Amino acid sequence: MSNRFLDLAAKGLHPLKPYAPGKPISELEREYGVSDIIKLASNENPLGPSPKAVAAMQKEMLELALYPDGNGFDLKSTLAEHLGVSVPQITLGNGSNDVLVLLAEAFLTPEHNAVYSQYAFAVYPLAIQAVGAGHKVAAARPADDAMPLGHDLNALADQINDKTRLIFIANPNNPTGTWLDMAELKAFVANAPDHALVIIDEAYYEYSGDQGAPTAIDWLDDFPNLVVTRTFSKAFGLAGLRVGYSVSHPDVADLLNRIRQPFNVNNLALVGAAAAMGDEDFLQASRALNSAGLVQLSNGLAELGLEVIPSQGNFLLVDMAQDAMPLYEALLHGGVIVRPVGPYGLPNHLRISIGTEAQNARVLQTLAKTLDR
Ligand SMILES: *Cc1c(COP(=O)(O)O)cnc(C)c1O
Repeated sequence: MSNRFLDLAAKGLHPLKPYAPGKPISELEREYGVSDIIKLASNENPLGPSPKAVAAMQKEMLELALYPDGNGFDLKSTLAEHLGVSVPQITLGNGSNDVLVLLAEAFLTPEHNAVYSQYAFAVYPLAIQAVGAGHKVAAARPADDAMPLGHDLNALADQINDKTRLIFIANPNNPTGTWLDMAELKAFVANAPDHALVIIDEAYYEYSGDQGAPTAIDWLDDFPNLVVTRTFSKAFGLAGLRVGYSVSHPDVADLLNRIRQPFNVNNLALVGAAAAMGDEDFLQASRALNSAGLVQLSNGLAELGLEVIPSQGNFLLVDMAQDAMPLYEALLHGGVIVRPVGPYGLPNHLRISIGTEAQNARVLQTLAKTLDR
């Protein structure tokens, strides 16, 4: 437990616990001797990676002796064109996680604080804690709300003070799947003080509708303190590649650019992400599979008598109405990996990513057997 170098480490690290990822398939095989495993624990795309991305990366393999373009010119240009923004507004990261950490490093100190909601994405408190800044956590909406456990914008606004430099808002949020009314969110950004950046994390944007779905990126011209983050890990099926980005005021991007690693996005990620961006067929197929899967899984869970929180992501948060760990363990023995959310303060819930039709059916069957229903 105790670490002999703890006293030497930065203070912010003292209370930190490492991020608890979804259990990898190989680990379950190794530890439980189970085979024929399905993993619905990390909101990965069940269709795999975009085939256009794979083709582009296969070619790029032969270029791996060379350092990547540290400025990511081609990918940024592709993104700028698709998003209707300019290249200097874009910051690339080794996953959007990297960009979230860069924002914390650039704007937070032990004298400052960051605001986020109860049940917000676990990476926010980790990034804030690592730089020793203060946390201001807003209470989430109640479980019987129309957006159960979702972000409460009034409660978030109440947490902002003179020391606040960052406000993290995921829309839709992980692990709850809940989303915010875009007019209310825009008013929140408009009312945020100039000394605080509002980070709107749109990791699931590509699932929430078609390309024309409303996005906070459209508000960037009005609000210089707005930062929007996106990722290739979810709908584009490239979680293992580690590539994401933010779109912001160019002066924010300039500061992030000063502290990022010179080659924080690798060659394969640069070409794979650019190719994926143009793979509209794949995105459409991913969206269609996800929409059908959300209906299939939420109906099936409701039939098992379980309460499901509405989701605009590729996952569902389910109230198991009992300690979820024994159920999680039983599912593991049945070869099904889902995500316990005890570390989020939700010991009775499980988060289940949307899989293929067959995978969703398998979770429901395994769960029915476990619950004896
Ligand atoms: C998955 C996820 C991310 C993306 O992480 P990457 O580092 O880009 O893989 C960011 N924010 C939220 C809310 C997520 O769920």
